[in-house]
Amino acid sequence: MDDPTRPTREQARNLDLGRVRSVSGAERASLDPALLDVVEYRKSGLSLNWIVGCPLDCGYCVRHLFGNFGMKVPRALMSDEQAFELLVGHRFFQPGVTPVQLLNRATDPMLARVKPHTFAMLRLLDEAGLRNHVLLITRWRVDEQDCAELNALRNLRVTLLVTHSGIEDPRIEPVDSAIAATSLRTAFAHARRYRVVLYWRPIVPGLNDSDTHLAQATALRRHAHATVFTGLFYRDEIRAYYRDHGLPEPYVDTARRKILPEQLEQRILTHAPPPDPALPLSPLFRKTSCAVAFAHGLPDYNGHVGIRELCDICPAAQLARCTSAHTRPSAEAVGAMAAGLGGRLVEVGAGAVTVAGLDEQHRYLMQHTLGYQVHDQARPHRLRRHGRAEIGWPSRPREAGSQVRAGGRPA
Ligand code: SF4
Repeated sequence: MDDPTRPTREQARNLDLGRVRSVSGAERASLDPALLDVVEYRKSGLSLNWIVGCPLDCGYCVRHLFGNFGMKVPRALMSDEQAFELLVGHRFFQPGVTPVQLLNRATDPMLARVKPHTFAMLRLLDEAGLRNHVLLITRWRVDEQDCAELNALRNLRVTLLVTHSGIEDPRIEPVDSAIAATSLRTAFAHARRYRVVLYWRPIVPGLNDSDTHLAQATALRRHAHATVFTGLFYRDEIRAYYRDHGLPEPYVDTARRKILPEQLEQRILTHAPPPDPALPLSPLFRKTSCAVAFAHGLPDYNGHVGIRELCDICPAAQLARCTSAHTRPSAEAVGAMAAGLGGRLVEVGAGAVTVAGLDEQHRYLMQHTLGYQVHDQARPHRLRRHGRAEIGWPSRPREAGSQVRAGGRPA
């Protein structure tokens, strides 16, 4: 006989959706189909995005690329339970291997309405005994209760990446950077079972790269296990938004990859405040996965050590850790893997495997499985050009001056 106190299936579904309402049929129909693809493989991990919509209004948001910037109220595409099943049943998911990112495409996982779902998902993954990396990227509020939730997890390797830019122009970033700074301090002060990364981005010439900005961000490095610094994604859609709203355009050109001019990188790397033994600076990294791996005392899961010029700023102990874990795979094994995914092995080099006929998602699957870089034959990597736009490189003023807008510092 049915238990009358038991919620109906529909009620259970609504309870599961917590404070985020399910997306309506009309809203679903209006979404870019790419947003309905809830699991997507990205370089930092398999990304699970079952909630869409954000009120934080950062002008450079990647939601511009999906035509979704106008959706300010988060909506759930499915229940937490359904999203969990989708992730762990995904053909690319490997227990203990695949790094996972939660809600990093179209919302912020720490928004008050979204947070219950974020923690529900973490508990589902943790209770399944999974020890995978899980990355949470936020620029919103993190309080002591949130830290207690994260510390209660037993298995997952959780990293909280707190985004801080120091941008003061409210037309570009209406959220006060002080919120992220407070979250970072709180999260770091209470971190027991999780790690905290200062995600210093986007750094843009003329906008948030003054000596004062650099000093502020550098001070925050004392409240994190590691720090990643990076530039701006300046795609056509984001430039169109800047133009439509009369915002100062930081670069003359758009680019497929993030832009961080060479001189700016040098200023960041050489900015050296007086030492404070009580609160040492966390090390700087160019790559997200490097910072995450270091924070957990593990080698980089993307095998960036194969591109040695990325490692010249890394602590010696971490370099040794990555170097000893870096194992050149056999051509037979990689060839079979590439063929099984529908592509072809071109070569196994000293620092990277090169393949043909595999898209980004399949290459990331191989890269995370092998802990070794996997490059596309059609996009050859060149020295000092790994994963960044060419704008602002090299830093010779004659070339770079034409690339960075007046008002921005020439790179
Ligand atoms: S040694 Fe290189 S690959 Fe390893 S964490 Fe450092 S920068 Fe990344």
